Amino acid sequence: MSRGRSHLGSQTRESLRRWALSRGASPAAASALAHRLVARFAGREADVPVSRRWLEAAREAFAEDLPEATPVEDPDGTIRYAVRYPDGALVEAVAIPHPGRTTVCLSSQVGCARGCVFCETGRLGLSRNLETHEIAGQFAAVSRHLRAIGRPTPTNVVFMGMGEPLDNLDAVLCAADVLSDDAGFAVAPRRITVSTVGVVPKIREFLARGRYRLAVSLHAANDEDRRALLPAARLWDLASLRAAIAQSREPVLLQWTMIEGRNDSPRHLEELLAFCRGLNVRVNLIPLNPGPEEELRAPAMEVVRAFQKALRDAGVRALLRMPHGREVGGACGQLAGALRDAPDRRQRLPVLGRARV
Ligand code: SF4
Repeated sequence: MSRGRSHLGSQTRESLRRWALSRGASPAAASALAHRLVARFAGREADVPVSRRWLEAAREAFAEDLPEATPVEDPDGTIRYAVRYPDGALVEAVAIPHPGRTTVCLSSQVGCARGCVFCETGRLGLSRNLETHEIAGQFAAVSRHLRAIGRPTPTNVVFMGMGEPLDNLDAVLCAADVLSDDAGFAVAPRRITVSTVGVVPKIREFLARGRYRLAVSLHAANDEDRRALLPAARLWDLASLRAAIAQSREPVLLQWTMIEGRNDSPRHLEELLAFCRGLNVRVNLIPLNPGPEEELRAPAMEVVRAFQKALRDAGVRALLRMPHGREVGGACGQLAGALRDAPDRRQRLPVLGRARV
């Protein structure tokens, strides 16, 4: 993107409409142009008449390039993309097929400042925030690739890739607005989930401003255990986190990455049940993917299943989620980390269409 030029992927329909009005378009022409441009970024041809003059003006005003996305497919059908921006920054996006839907997991930052102990990205530290068009561009590049290989159009978005989304809240919310425009990618707002490690002041802001679903990485329900896993928990304790979650009008997803000996015992279960009591929450149990700390591993599956059953028996909605894409660097940050550490490895990655993992 040339310096000083806006990007189409950062524009909502309303901002495009205002742009056209400010250049003298009539209200009808401005609305039609905005509709057409939002559709264009999503790779659609909108059947809305717009004069050539306005289309050319928009082409001059807005860049439309997408980041380079290198796909690697896992045997379970998950496709992990190493997404590279023109400045060399590298993040990940993941397309996860489920029966009847496809979820795209997006990154919000290059690296992350939050330093969770089991996270590969946390080891990298934060390089920079992604801009709105860079986040929306991940989704656009993934959608384009899925279409090219005959896979279904993505239906759901989760902000659970690299970065703490609430540390880049404005860009994340704007990207969600771009992706949910029904003239463009048309992802239903209730199918967009933004995840946080528990940045309490930003949760309140997110709930006040957003119309999207919230997920919170809980992982432990007593302060001492949680601080040992998530440095962010030293800043905001569980009482303040719980109070912020209670403000949500929609159900909140609690993520519980299961780690042997750290959060899988009957005591941990009791603490989690106490945390959930009176909240409108659902729990996702995710056996740990191998990460940077070798001594941290997932419990045996019987333990995970028993934990899930005990939650359900106590009336808490609990789902078991297996980590996706294990064989292509399934833990957050691993694929991008591998490429960053050895850039020439990109040539050796099994690229979809030429070879499959
Ligand atoms: S788990 Fe998320 S918030 Fe924690 S370090 Fe990794 S990317 Fe950052």
